[in-house]
Amino acid sequence: MRINIAIDGPSAAGKSTIAKLTAKRLGYVHLDTGAMYRCTALKAVREGISLDDEPAVCRMLENTDIRLTPDGEVFLDGENVSAEIRTDEISMAASDVSKLKQVRADLVKRQQEMARAKGFIMDGRDIGTVVLTDAEVKIYLTASAHARALRRLKQNKEQLNISTSDLETIEKEIEARDYQDMHRENSPLRKADDAVEIDSSDLTIDEVADRIYALVEPFLLKEEN
Ligand code: C5P
Repeated sequence: MRINIAIDGPSAAGKSTIAKLTAKRLGYVHLDTGAMYRCTALKAVREGISLDDEPAVCRMLENTDIRLTPDGEVFLDGENVSAEIRTDEISMAASDVSKLKQVRADLVKRQQEMARAKGFIMDGRDIGTVVLTDAEVKIYLTASAHARALRRLKQNKEQLNISTSDLETIEKEIEARDYQDMHRENSPLRKADDAVEIDSSDLTIDEVADRIYALVEPFLLKEEN
């Protein structure tokens, strides 16, 4: 049986890494919904649109093509912006535009259309609570702010090769963004009632992936019966 898997949680908890790994293991498609909010923010910043001008950001989105490739590359109107959307500035800007109700409605619609076929692992903030409320497996992935800041610093330096702040600044930025994501009016980050919480602070990536696989496996077996 093909299912959908929702992974939500605060920033830099390892959602994308885990989702990517699990997608590979299952032959599923990973959809990083944060990248869609990041693309929206990047384009608004580039066009000088104020991040709280909801009508202007929505008009912009009507003519915006966001494409996520199976190997994790992100294309904004045909341009590869995979690294550019990961800077500290765009991280916070993404959190700003994600507060806008109509922006969320537009992106959620795109996400739901993509996942209709099943076989998707989507990660974000509102997947289990709004986007895929009927996902067969829901995970709420957390880690301490310190563990998350360490991971983000490493990722910025080693994988993305983008300019980065120091550890302390990153930790503060992560905490500020989480606060904003958890306290916004529209679809705040929260654990879905039927989600399984996994704290990854002291777990390796493989250990987290194994726990998720254990939750998914019963559904895979159903196919064989
Ligand atoms: O997951 P990532 O850190 O890339 O997401 C960037 C920002 O986009 C988050 O801080 C959050 O404000 C927003 N977001 C959201 N809903 C999602 C995914 C991301 O509001 N499903």
